Amino acid sequence: MTFTTRFAPSPTGPLHLGHAFSAMLAYDLAMAVDGVFLLRIEDIDQSRARAEWEQQIYDDLHWLGLTWPEPVLRQSDNLAAYDAALDTLWARGLLYRCDCNRRDIEAAATAPQEGAPLIGPDGLVYPGTCRRKHPRIGPRPRGAALRLDMSAALDTTHKDMTFRDNADQPRIRIVQPQTAITHIGDVVLARRDMGTSYHLSVVVDDAAQHITDVVRGKDLSDATDIHVILQHLLGLPTPIYHHHRLIRDDTGKRLAKRDDARAISKYRGDGASPDDIRAMVGLPVKPA
Ligand code: GLU
Repeated sequence: MTFTTRFAPSPTGPLHLGHAFSAMLAYDLAMAVDGVFLLRIEDIDQSRARAEWEQQIYDDLHWLGLTWPEPVLRQSDNLAAYDAALDTLWARGLLYRCDCNRRDIEAAATAPQEGAPLIGPDGLVYPGTCRRKHPRIGPRPRGAALRLDMSAALDTTHKDMTFRDNADQPRIRIVQPQTAITHIGDVVLARRDMGTSYHLSVVVDDAAQHITDVVRGKDLSDATDIHVILQHLLGLPTPIYHHHRLIRDDTGKRLAKRDDARAISKYRGDGASPDDIRAMVGLPVKPA
């Protein structure tokens, strides 16, 4: 199988040094084995995505010396694929409608009888308020948030869910069903405002694009358990994951999306070269 990886930014702000590292590392890994590097635009959050940021992603990555096959997959053009995956899960009774807002969840999760609230990859672990409130039969609700019933879902999957995690030390990671229930919980798979979610879309697209190797930051390491569970539920292959180190600022803080001071375009405007960027993030500078 040809090594195929992707860089999947959201066009909601300028790419910074952390993105440059992730994209160039993925590109280098692909090129080293004659593989394929794809670019995917993760723009399902239409309230935050902007055409200008998308254009700047293309400009910055080209300037860094990266190329990719066209056409680029834009998630906003692919909503039918996410709908189909949601239909499959709905038909199996694994999704339920949730009407809670953030404040409801905070109030329920921090109620004294609940003990200490647990924080999962998506924030507070959902306390299950709506789990038995709405029928799971009939047409799938539209314009409503849908959560995965994690416990019911894991009852239907293979017990041994593992994946290869090539982080600092390559290892096989095991998705523990009990930990998924208690520490991840009923994640939202369709958001009210966008009809899908990051987790669902990324899993559907990685499979559709035949991604063999996902190269992304350690900040998404916990989310990978969710992705592997979804792959099992949807009958999709599990890629190899490379969770790379994060680029931090001088105070040790991870660079945030809004960190315009470290935007690639800023360095570029200040006269830096792509090799300077490689050196800054600790990637080998290629011989001319
Ligand atoms: N779109 C995600 C982000 O910008 C990346 C998702 C991924 O690589 O799986 O953080």
